[in-house]
Amino acid sequence: MTGAQEVIVVGGGVIGCGIAWELTRRDVRVTLVERGPIGREASWASAGIISLPNRPDWRPERIALGRLSLKRYPEWVADLESRTGIAIEYHRPGGWSVAVDAEHGAVEAERAAFQLSLGFEVEEVAPEEARRREPALPRDLVAAWFTPAAGSLSLHRLTEALAAAAAAQGAVIRPETPVGSILMENGRAVGVRLSEGDLLADRVVLATGAWTRLLADPLGVALPTRPMKGQLIAFANAPVHPHGIISGHHGYVRPRPDGSTLVAATEEDVGFDHRVTGEGVAWLLNLTRMICPGLLAGEIVETWAGLRPGSDTGEPMMGPVPGVDGLWAATGHFRTGAKEAPASAMLMAEALATSRIDPLLAAFAPPAASA
Ligand SMILES: Cc1cc2nc3c(=O)[nH]c(=O)nc-3n(C[C@H](O)[C@H](O)[C@H](O)COP(=O)(O)OP(=O)(O)OC[C@H]3O[C@@H](n4cnc5c(N)ncnc54)[C@H](O)[C@@H]3O)c2cc1C
Repeated sequence: MTGAQEVIVVGGGVIGCGIAWELTRRDVRVTLVERGPIGREASWASAGIISLPNRPDWRPERIALGRLSLKRYPEWVADLESRTGIAIEYHRPGGWSVAVDAEHGAVEAERAAFQLSLGFEVEEVAPEEARRREPALPRDLVAAWFTPAAGSLSLHRLTEALAAAAAAQGAVIRPETPVGSILMENGRAVGVRLSEGDLLADRVVLATGAWTRLLADPLGVALPTRPMKGQLIAFANAPVHPHGIISGHHGYVRPRPDGSTLVAATEEDVGFDHRVTGEGVAWLLNLTRMICPGLLAGEIVETWAGLRPGSDTGEPMMGPVPGVDGLWAATGHFRTGAKEAPASAMLMAEALATSRIDPLLAAFAPPAASA
């Protein structure tokens, strides 16, 4: 029984709320502090695609994190929806990986071979047959693969549901509460400084996404996060509404349950900048023309941008932070935080509750030295 422990989670995105929820399930007392509304940063902007492992260059542990999450998602969502009544819109309509030129066809072929080697179902479909099955695909298609297990969800609704479920189970959720700094005592993190006073706990978890470095740097620890901007647009009232996800040429098209379709996303290393720009929209329109051109006859009903939690290490950083007892981190999920949230939350909560670090979590240990 771990009920006497107290953990402060800083950051109310999907990662922080996921950890808070998983901690309450393990009877650990938790307070979550978020400087704005719950789930309004990367976890709000996210395209919410739950893709299969699609990076042949990733190490096996990263693949395992994604696989564990894929396995966990159906149960996580069903449980949270029944507890909170929040519709998370988790669907697995399958996804098309497509190319309209030979160069991208080769990239997608390599990705398909990689997914097949991992045991996932991947079907190569001749362009004409693919267009018969998914009329939203482009006429100049040169190659297409279908993966039935690909899915998507509303990540901000998932984040809200995690926070609501955690609160119902006893967690204290404090939105609109910025953390100014980490409180230290004899080299140990003992709480956080808020404008209205200090909040103390046994452990502090930084789940502060792209902003983590700002709290970590003053302590001299290495949590080298960096904001990686993504811009998106959504169409409605187009003559096409894809059945499933369409990916290729460095982007995604995702149908949403309200009948609109989103197109995602630029990748820009431009600091803490949330602006939607002409260049960003132009890139997205060009992507749309290549992989789902019928959308262009519709209306652009939304444009938005968010800051992915990138990291200098290129990997999530999760677990105890070397050099500061009591300080933990869970950040750096970059483009795949939706996909990797369930496993990340579960592994972090289990380690915080039991003080035993699963080897999979250990594979993402934050770097040892100050950057
Ligand atoms: C445009 C875009 C598209 C994406 N598409 C996909 C996708 O299709 N599939 C996928 O798997 N992933 C996708 N991602 C990535 C995924 O959304 C992120 O990896 C994930 O949301 C990160 O969650 P987080 O909780 O770490 O960060 P965030 O959601 O950013 O949460 C961090 C929170 O910390 C809070 N915070 C920061 N500093 C403080 C402080 N000092 N005090 C209190 N609170 C603080 C912030 O306000 C914020 O709410 C996308 C991301 C973006 C931006």
